Amino acid sequence: MSPVKVKKIVCIGAGYVGGPTCAVVARKCPDITVTIVDLNQARIDAWNDEDFRLPIYEPGLVDVVKSCRGKNLFFSTDVDKGIQEADLIFVSVNTPTKKSGVGAGFAADLNYVELATRRIAAVATSNKIVVEKSTVPCRTAESMRTILEANAKPNCRFDILSNPEFLAEGTAITDLHNPDRVLIGSLQTPEGLEACQSLADIYAHWVPRERILTVGLWSSELSKLAANAMLAQRISSINALSAICEATGSNIDEVAHAVGHDSRIGPKFLKASVGFGGSCFQKDILNLVYLSESLHLPEVAAYWRQVVEMNEYQKARFSKRVVDMLFNTITGKRIAVLGFAFKADTGDTRESAAITLIRDFQKERANVSLYDPQVEESQIWQDLAEASPELPLETIQKQVKICSSSMEACKGAEAVVIATEWKEFNDIDWEGVYNSMNKPAFVFDGRLLVDAAKLTKIGFKVVTIGRGEL
Ligand code: NAD
Repeated sequence: MSPVKVKKIVCIGAGYVGGPTCAVVARKCPDITVTIVDLNQARIDAWNDEDFRLPIYEPGLVDVVKSCRGKNLFFSTDVDKGIQEADLIFVSVNTPTKKSGVGAGFAADLNYVELATRRIAAVATSNKIVVEKSTVPCRTAESMRTILEANAKPNCRFDILSNPEFLAEGTAITDLHNPDRVLIGSLQTPEGLEACQSLADIYAHWVPRERILTVGLWSSELSKLAANAMLAQRISSINALSAICEATGSNIDEVAHAVGHDSRIGPKFLKASVGFGGSCFQKDILNLVYLSESLHLPEVAAYWRQVVEMNEYQKARFSKRVVDMLFNTITGKRIAVLGFAFKADTGDTRESAAITLIRDFQKERANVSLYDPQVEESQIWQDLAEASPELPLETIQKQVKICSSSMEACKGAEAVVIATEWKEFNDIDWEGVYNSMNKPAFVFDGRLLVDAAKLTKIGFKVVTIGRGEL
């Protein structure tokens, strides 16, 4: 036997990972037909939108989709047809944290993975390479294999691979074009290794072979959780140090610069902030905590849990600082929050620090005016309602006003809180903002974004993570 030359790919899940990842595969492999399927009709309609108003915002994504949609890239809700026609199936469905039942709040909810796997088994009529793209607990591929083999039609073989995605939202297209590594895990059997070769051959269209790492299935699954846990750990470490900086008069930027110059440590991911967000870091660490506990390794679980707890502490500390600096009360005061996405260059709000901050300000009965350049209004109301389930939406909408510019948000405010590092917040007419605000006018920079010295000169009181007041 020799490795299957893949001609048709289907990706189950047209989200932040499945969409961009498989669009790039289609662009780089014009000889392969790529179909991205999803049960969510609205999402698929948006991927097929005539004016390319795609369901997710990601720099460079529209160009990629424009270059191949309708040629070798298709979006569809016909999951069964996609599965039947494909040689290789990416499973890129959501794996959120379980909300109830055993392991609630920690374990991954594998319901979507299981349903997709069962669908593959139910409708496949030929051999398939099934690739776990979703981030999953270690040994999930074994469960998938059991389900597939128990339900396979005669003469239908499934080879399972793990191929976790390391892209970061906001830079997904650059990351996919030029990845640090592509990781492929397979069973170390002749069939497993051949399937691994088939997938590696796809990536080799544009990724140098030395960056395509092939490992065992379980190592691959664990590596993804480990990578996210270690990235988040760096953020929590620098944030923990930022608290010490504020108390001692050290400057976190200077500390990070000095520490990052050590080639063993390196400069990346050492930026202090109000805390990390996004759909992955917290969920993947909690998953690691759950895994460790299930393996009777409580000390390991406690170690990783602390990374998430430090992140919660950082957000709470920031909210408290806002209240403290505004003379211990923000009741009835207007707070302008700039940014709602969990980071710049994405419209994704999952676990965004802004949600926690606004909830805290609401609890203090402040009036919030909010501006984000990308996030849809409906998404904001949904997130704020979920964050404060005890409040009727009308009450939230009385306290929070969504604005269409930074200028509008800041008018009449006592304080500006920068929650997302959108570049445009640096280019605001800060003098104009200052003149429109109540005095003293505060800026709380939760992302170390603005030029604090410049703003101080204008008259602002600038409060920055990891620094005393200027
Ligand atoms: P997402 O929620 O944006 O997309 C998942 C999609 O899968 C949804 O549109 C959903 O409708 C669809 N889906 C679920 N079950 C389905 C089924 N049975 N058939 C067809 N479609 C189905 O999620 P995402 O952000 O793309 O993440 C997907 C996976 O990738 C997760 O495991 C996540 O942890 C992982 N991951 C995410 C990122 C990121 O930055 N978002 C990065 C790396 C890895």
